[in-house]
Parts: sequence; structure tokens; C-alpha cells
Amino acid sequence: MGMEKSTFASEILIIHKFNGGHLKMGGFTVHVKYKGGKRDSLEKAVTLLNTYLKSVIDKQKTFDAGTAVLVEDNTTPSILETDVMVYMVRNISKSVIKAQGGSVATAEANDKILGMTDLNKKICEVYADRLYEDSPKELSGAIFHETAHIKSNQDNAMHTNKTGFLGASPDYNGSPTDDNVQFLATNLGRKLAMTTSY
Ligand SMILES: [Zn+2]
Repeated sequence: MGMEKSTFASEILIIHKFNGGHLKMGGFTVHVKYKGGKRDSLEKAVTLLNTYLKSVIDKQKTFDAGTAVLVEDNTTPSILETDVMVYMVRNISKSVIKAQGGSVATAEANDKILGMTDLNKKICEVYADRLYEDSPKELSGAIFHETAHIKSNQDNAMHTNKTGFLGASPDYNGSPTDDNVQFLATNLGRKLAMTTSY
């Protein structure tokens, strides 16, 4: 009996040692649902997003990990209310926002727009046919951009005074700027409860 007690006590000590001072909520995940376009581009884009998210995680204290994952069409993952889902669709005629009763008129009028976010319906989407040669770099940038819209709950106002990935005419060469990373980090904890079933 005395023996068991002391073993138990030392286990508690070890647990405290590992957790000490670093209690966090867990992970943040961007789920990208593949509904059209080049699958290979999305696989590469997910790898790039994972590197961007590492930088974002380093600049905030709510989450201890940030991950991007590819979600197969016709599957409905259960996600955390802080997670983000972005739909990759073949072209704007396959818009999830429009199918759900929202408007993508801005993007219909301007084919330079790679993606849209509907803040009310809480849907993010990117258009595969608008990527330059199926560029995974552009795709990862567009997913980062729409993620920042939904997380900050800002429409085009988000672009004000932004450069790099988050400007009005985003530049997806290179990586998100320090300011881009800080902006997403600042807004990362916002709860969304996005739908994953479309
Ligand atoms: Zn935007």
C-alpha cells in the first residue's frame, strides 16, 4: 500500500513537470475539401500551408499546433468550432456559396479573384480554374487569404493597409509577410462553427 502511494505521487510530479506553465487548448486545423481541380496541386498546397501555419502558431498562445489537411469530397469531418473549412471547387459555376444562396457576383465579374468568403454563411471557397497553371503556391496563398477573412470576420476591409498574401491584389510569391502571419495569429482563436457537410 505504502509502495503504491509513492508511485502515484511521483507520477503526478512527472505530469506537472511536462505541463508546467504551458497549458494550451490544443490544435488549430484548416480543412480543405477537395471538390474539383488538380488534386496534386492541393496536396502540395497543403504542405505549403503547414509551413505557413507553423509561423502563425509561433505568434500566438491559444493553440500549440496548426495543421492543414485535405478532406475528401463526400465526407463530413467533425471539426472544432475554432477550425476553418475551405472548399476547393473546379470553377465558379461550382460555387458552394452560390449553391447555399449567397452571392459571388464580385468574383463572377472579376476572374482575377481566386477565392471568396461569405462571412454570414461562413463559407470559404477557392476556384481551381483561376490558378496559374494549377500553381500550388497560389492555391496555398488563396486558402491562407480566405482563412484570414473568416477568422477576422472582415470583408474587403481586411485588405486595407495590407501587403503580401492579404492585400486586395494579393502577391502569393514567397511566404506570407510577418504582418500577414501576425494578423492571422491575432485572430486565430475566434470561434466559427463552420459547416463541413456540403
Ligand atoms: Zn480578400
